[in-house]
Formats: sequence, structure tokens, C-alpha cells
Amino acid sequence: MLLAGDGHEVTVLERDPAGPPGDPAQAWEQWERPGLNQFRLPHYFLGGFREIVDTELPELSQALQAAGALRLNMFRDVLPAQLSGGWRDGDERYELLTGRRPVMEAVTAAAAESAPGVEVRRGTAVDGLITGAAALPGVPHVSGVRTKAGEAIPADLVVDMTGRRSSLPDWLGEIGARPVAEELEDSGFIYYGRHFRSADGSLPAMIGPPQIQWGTVSSLTLPADNGTWSVALVASSKDKALRPLRELDRWEAVVRSLPLVAHWLDGTPIDDGLAVLARLEDRYRGFVADGTPVATGVVAVADSWSCSNPANGRGASIGLLHARTLRDQLRSTGLDDPAAFAGAFHDATAENVEPWYRTTLATDRHRLGEIEAGIRAEPYDPPDPWYELEKALDAAAGQDPDCLRALLDVRLVLRGPDEVFARPGLREKTLRLGAGWRDEPPLGPDREQLLAMVSAP
Ligand SMILES: Cc1cc2nc3c(=O)[nH]c(=O)nc-3n(C[C@H](O)[C@H](O)[C@H](O)COP(=O)(O)OP(=O)(O)OC[C@H]3O[C@@H](n4cnc5c(N)ncnc54)[C@H](O)[C@@H]3O)c2cc1C
Repeated sequence: MLLAGDGHEVTVLERDPAGPPGDPAQAWEQWERPGLNQFRLPHYFLGGFREIVDTELPELSQALQAAGALRLNMFRDVLPAQLSGGWRDGDERYELLTGRRPVMEAVTAAAAESAPGVEVRRGTAVDGLITGAAALPGVPHVSGVRTKAGEAIPADLVVDMTGRRSSLPDWLGEIGARPVAEELEDSGFIYYGRHFRSADGSLPAMIGPPQIQWGTVSSLTLPADNGTWSVALVASSKDKALRPLRELDRWEAVVRSLPLVAHWLDGTPIDDGLAVLARLEDRYRGFVADGTPVATGVVAVADSWSCSNPANGRGASIGLLHARTLRDQLRSTGLDDPAAFAGAFHDATAENVEPWYRTTLATDRHRLGEIEAGIRAEPYDPPDPWYELEKALDAAAGQDPDCLRALLDVRLVLRGPDEVFARPGLREKTLRLGAGWRDEPPLGPDREQLLAMVSAP
């Protein structure tokens, strides 16, 4: 939609055959999307996503709201004035536009299908790339794709958005491209999630942040569309002792034991049981090696470019930021010189989008470190100033409205950490007010109590 809005003719090739159902209930209950193993897992869509949708795609923003997507501003609707310091200019940005993934996606897909300049072809799997005359000596130029049915579809630019399991590096290898620079490891987390609905359209009171760390597990409580919400527990996938969490009664017992979270179970479950997802990878792909693109005429956007542990809820915001970066790069560089475009898009990605991936990865690595130390009953205290600053910001946010805004700017993918900590005095204030984060008493069950709950006969 962003590209078509600039006059490009866009053909979307989607492997899954079923189109979006017309109403939210059908999207949730009936829409089959085997291409997405995260389709029915808890999602929420952060301020970064909302900000781009509101600004760039206002019709989509209205359509989402009309379908019941939740608009929720942390300062207007959730946080008490004692914490927030009262409403300030600019607080509009802390607004979410969120809902269950199938509902958000059905509305977005329907908007794309009716957008001028966009053609969506479902049930069409891409199987490889076709090439044309090289723009750079020795570098293959992609001039379209080949579908599984054997059709060749030409394109001025191929945009790979086939998600975290994208085969683009293999396809590039088949046309003789140098290897993509790939960083890959298991993110190390496992998710256990469930969705609920209230009888009267209300949502559970948000008396804590959506993501809370409780020693060796974290909870996610995510408000969604039409009086629905989701609850998830996230653990280390290596933590064998917590594997019984996949059994509903154990999962419920643990959620019930968490203050600030337990009441999120007080609704009617709307899925068949727990959705469990593991083996999620952290992956980064660089398509320029030694200053030269591995191929021209093709780019990877969103998860196919990089993806990480989704507990921070940033994937859609980062992906949309990346899509907007692509649109802007096409505006400024155009495609007349494919090599110049490939280099410029790589640089723009590195400048605008990659810092979000790197920050998320750093946060996750420390979270896993904390969990692993917690399992061994050891303290976790890495000599990393970023870790200290992040923990201090968490603690300081409860004491100071500037620190609270800084925390939400980063959490909601609105302003990056470098920009936030360039604010006069903020770093010093954060470290001063948050210095005592190690002494905060744990609110929930300790490791022993957790293990007792999951292993009870
Ligand atoms: C458990 C979990 C929870 C998450 N929670 C959140 C959250 O709360 N908030 C958030 O913002 N993000 C969340 N994410 C991340 C989010 O789901 C992704 O970042 C986002 O979906 C990426 O969008 P994408 O378009 O890159 O890829 P995808 O959404 O994965 O879409 C890829 C599409 O490509 C299609 N496809 C694949 N191969 C082919 C092919 N060969 N030919 C044609 N089509 C093909 C697939 O069918 C699919 O439709 C979560 C992810 C997981 C795993």
C-alpha cells in the first residue's frame, strides 16, 4: 500500500490460498493461514506501528478501528497522574492500535486488496528468482520471480517479505550470488499463550505493564480488539523443568500466582487450548558484502531481513518502519541505477531499522542470561553499561515522568535509545533514580514455588 500510494504497480504473491474473511469473528475462528505459525499467538501492535499507519495509511487506521481494533493511549487511558505527571504535549504518540493478529491482518489484507495499484494473488508460491542483464559485473540482477506453478513474473524490483523462514538466500545462491551475510541463532525462548473475551466488551484493569519479568518466566498481558485479550508466559526453551507449562492446569496455576496478572484469566477462553511456540530464531541478513550488493533488483524487508524473539512485540512496528524506509528510498534514489539503489537501501536499513534489531537482541540476550542465572540460583551482573541503564530506566520510570516517557518511547518503538538518552540530563537522572533496581523485592513466586506449581501431582 505504501509503494502503490507512490504510483508503483505492486503485485503481492501469497502462498496461502484463503483470502481475508469479512468480519473479526470469522477472521479469528475460520481463517486458515498455514504460512504463519505465529498466526494465533498473542500479538499486540505498538505505538511505532500505530504512528506509521495513522500518518501514512489513514484509511487503514480507520478500517482497523471500525473492525474493533483497540486504541489505547497509556497517558490518557491507563496511567494515573501521580505516575504520568499529567498530560503533556506529544503524549498522543503513546497510543496503541492493536488487536488479535488474525483480525488486524484480515483488515489490512482487505485494505490492500482494494487499494488502487495493488494486485493480490493468493495461492501463488514463489519458488525462485529470474535474472536479467547484470547492472554490476559479476553480480546477478533479479528481474522477477518464478512461481511453484512454473510461471515467470517479471518485476523492476522484487521485495521479499516471506517472513522469518524466507528462502531468499537459497534462491540467491541458485542464481550465482555470493552468500548473504547471515547471523543466526535460536532466540532461546518458548511461548505459552491463550486468548480470552469478556461478556460485556470490557478489558481487565491494566494495573501493571504488559510485559513483566518474574524471575525465570515473563508474563505478557495484551489487550486486543472487541473485548478480547491474550495472556502468555515466556520461558527459556532450555528450561526443561518448566516444560509442564504446556499443560493448561499448570499454566493457569502459575498465571494465577502472579500479582498484577492473575485477574487477566477472568474471561472466557476463545481458543481451544494453549498455543505453544518455540524454536524461534534471531536472524540478521546483510545483502551487501565488501561494499557490493550480492544481487541487484531484489531486497528483503521485515522478518525476511531480520527477526528476533517476539516477546517485545516489536516485529510489526520494525517491519512497517522498514517498508516505509523502502518507499522513501525508492522516492529518493529510484531504480534507474539498480546497484546504487541496492547500496542506498542497505545503508538506509542500517541507519533507520537495524538499531532496533540490535537493541532488541541485546535486551533478549540479557534476559536469557538472567533466566539462566536464575535457574542456577546465581546472580546475573554482566559488565555492560547498556544493561545497567536499561534496568535503571525500568526502575526510574515508576518514579519520574520523564523517565517513564523515555521507557515508553523505547518500548513502543517510537524513539530509539540513542535519541532518548541524548535528552539533557536523562541518563544521569535514570542512573540516579534507578540505582536501586537490584534491591527491589520480587513480587511473585520464587523459583522453588514456581517449580512446585508446575510439578504438583
Ligand atoms: C509468537 C510470536 C509472537 C509475536 N508477537 C508480536 C507482537 O506482539 N507484536 C508484533 O509487532 N510482532 C509480533 N511478532 C512478530 C510478527 O509476527 C512479525 O514480525 C511479522 O509477522 C513479520 O511480518 P512479515 O510480513 O515480515 O512476515 P510474515 O507475517 O511472516 O508473513 C510472511 C508471508 O509470506 C508468505 N510466504 C512465505 N513463503 C512464501 C513463498 N515462497 N511464496 C509466497 N508467499 C510466501 C506467508 O504465507 C506469509 O503470509 C510475533 C511473532 C511470533 C513468532
